[in-house]
Amino acid sequence: MALIIDHVTKRFGEFTAVDQLNLRIPKEEIFGFLGGNGAGKTTTFRMLLGLLDKTEGKITWNGKAIDYETSNLIGYLPEERGLYPKLTVKNQLVYLARLRGMEKKAILQELEKWLERFKVPEYMNKKIEELSKGNQQKIQFISAVIHRPELLILDEPFSGLDPINVEMLKEAVLDLKEQGTTIVFSSHQMSHVEELCQFLCILQKGRPVVQGSLREIKRSFGKKNLRIHGD
Ligand code: ATP
Repeated sequence: MALIIDHVTKRFGEFTAVDQLNLRIPKEEIFGFLGGNGAGKTTTFRMLLGLLDKTEGKITWNGKAIDYETSNLIGYLPEERGLYPKLTVKNQLVYLARLRGMEKKAILQELEKWLERFKVPEYMNKKIEELSKGNQQKIQFISAVIHRPELLILDEPFSGLDPINVEMLKEAVLDLKEQGTTIVFSSHQMSHVEELCQFLCILQKGRPVVQGSLREIKRSFGKKNLRIHGD
């Protein structure tokens, strides 16, 4: 098991946002966190990334705590997208990827490849503010994967995207898995999880109510009972 979440709890004052989460996430698989608004998905991701202190519990990636040293092995697409509107796509990505320790030449090569793949090579010199929200999201996805992380964390990657862009991003996620990336993503929609994941956890009010392999869960509960509000 690559990612181990061991009895993790997060309290904000009296309020418990994540309650005794205990998960084993296998390497080179896609793992889905399914849950409605306020279920605790983003809070879990922030703890995974070390952006938020845990109240209790332990998280390890390949047996090591995730800290400053290991954080470069991780890619993150945050729920609140954060790009600099006045920068060009090229300058934005060069800026962000250099923080990850990449050389400019390698950044530009990777960026070119991704823009081709997303069928928007002409965006290289466009300003972020000139792009639609969906296209900004694709740029943010590129910034999460450009340094070829071992572990990729995607917070609601498909929200706000049109069906064509959803498909494009799903294909990219599946290819990254084939290349050996471990991927954890959150969604409100069972359909996304069913299509991509081998393993999943359904969170409700910070508690894992169902977890395991998709095949076993479907066998035990039947598809109908797995519908989440909004799906
Ligand atoms: P969504 O799908 O709406 O993004 P989520 O599953 O990602 O939901 P979280 O953002 O993790 O949910 O929030 C879980 C709960 O913790 C919510 O009730 C939220 O209001 C609360 N919460 C999150 N961050 C804080 C904070 N910094 N202080 C207090 N409460 C917080």
